[in-house]
This record gives sequence, structure tokens and C-alpha cells, in this order.
Amino acid sequence: MVKVTVWNEYRHERNDDKIAAVYPEGIHGQIASFLKEAGLDVRTATLDEPEHGLTEEVLNNTDVLVWWGHIAHKEVSDEIVDRVHQRVLQGMGLVVLHSGHMSKIFMKLMGTSCDLKWREAGEKERLWVMNPSHPIAEGIGEYIELEHEEMYGTHFDVPAPDELIFVGWFEGGNVFPSGSTYRRGNGKIFYFQPGHESYPTYYHPEIQKVIINGVNWCEPTKRAYPVYGRSQELEMIKREVLL
Ligand code: ZN
Repeated sequence: MVKVTVWNEYRHERNDDKIAAVYPEGIHGQIASFLKEAGLDVRTATLDEPEHGLTEEVLNNTDVLVWWGHIAHKEVSDEIVDRVHQRVLQGMGLVVLHSGHMSKIFMKLMGTSCDLKWREAGEKERLWVMNPSHPIAEGIGEYIELEHEEMYGTHFDVPAPDELIFVGWFEGGNVFPSGSTYRRGNGKIFYFQPGHESYPTYYHPEIQKVIINGVNWCEPTKRAYPVYGRSQELEMIKREVLL
């Protein structure tokens, strides 16, 4: 069974009644609930817990980490970011949601500003499937329609993705690479754009399906971490020519 840790900064839901009404158990609570229903082994962690809930023990027992953050990216300690980064390189999967595009961990893995255009106008979004054979798009039709979502628009300053799974179109005219995959070291990363805190996006069955698929796709490959550094020759090397 895939072991998932859902991490959330958990600030909007505690500081704003309107957002608490959308996510009474927190965004992490809602995401954890549909991942559990899908048969995954799920725990949650939040920013204000000791070590942000991401102790060595927790991370060593996490196959896939799901990340939601927004207003408190800077409060995440560099030490924990380095720890998560190491785990990703060793093979832990990472699903970065919505405003997690500016999280320290995503920026470190991408190496770019990860900036984008945005607009909060409650507009409609239509997420088109770009890669219908990809496991992350399994069970999804030609597109997903969200009645209200925050606009994220291109240009999105990230490296070219390995695979582009969704392109989002917004009512106001912008488009965005809304679902994309990356590989870093032994680890797999899925970025998925929907999920602004004031909209009930994570109750949408098809959005849930994509996140479940994304978690399953990011599951670590069962192989040892590569060996780096000085390497012993595998056969005798004839040195006469050089000597
Ligand atoms: Zn947002």
C-alpha cells in the first residue's frame, strides 16, 4: 500500500471563517479523506507541528508527499526543505498542488523562479487532457470543468516538463500548463494547478481522481539508489599503451 503524507501549511483555514467553512478539517483533512477512500495509507502533517510534522521518521516512512502551501512558504525551515529534497532525490514521490508552485521545495527542485500570472476572479476553468494515455489522466474525459478557480496564467517560469498532462483554459483568456511531471534523481514529481483555498476544488470527483492517479504515479520505483563516486573497474584494463 502506498504510504502518503499530506502536508499543508494550515493557516487560511484557521484565520479566515469563509475558508474554514469550505475546508472545516483543513485542506489536508479533505485531501487525506479522499486518498484514504482510494485505499492509500495516509497521514497528515502541518507547518506548526514540531519539524513541520516532517521528521526523519515520517519522511523515511513516506512513499509520496503531497504539498499545499501559500502564505507561509518562507516559514518552512531550510533544514526541513533540504531533508525533503534529499528524500525526493532518493526516490520519494512529490505531488505539488496549486500555490505550492512557490514553495521552497518546488523552487529548489526546479531551479527557477516558478513565478506565473494570477487573478482571483472566480472564473471558469477548463482543464484539457494533453496526454490521454498517461496514467495520471486515467478515468478522465476530454476535459475537466471547474465552475470557479483562481486563474494561473503562462508564462510559468519552470523548466520544460518531462510530460504535460493538462492545459488549463480560463474564462478570462489565459492558459496554463496545469498538470506536468518532472523527474529529479530517483524521484518523480507531479505539479497540479487547481486548488485555490476559497473554492471547493478538492471536493470535485475528477480533481480527486487526478490527485489519486498522481500519487500512484509518483510511487517510488523499487530499486536501490545509484552508487556515485570512484568506481572500481569491472575487468582488467590494458595499460601498456599508456605506460
Ligand atoms: Zn490560490
